[in-house]
Amino acid sequence: MTHQYSCSACAFEVHSDDDDEIVELVQNHANEYHDMSPSDDDVRDGMQTV
Ligand SMILES: [Zn+2]
Repeated sequence: MTHQYSCSACAFEVHSDDDDEIVELVQNHANEYHDMSPSDDDVRDGMQTV
């Protein structure tokens, strides 16, 4: 199943059929661009099915 995640703070979006990949990419993005450290669950809660 493909999921996507849209950053709530900017226009960053990622989509993949690998949830673990999305979590990693979003955590890297949040750290680099927003100085935030969302947990795995935070990211998974924000994913949308596409
Ligand atoms: Zn962002």
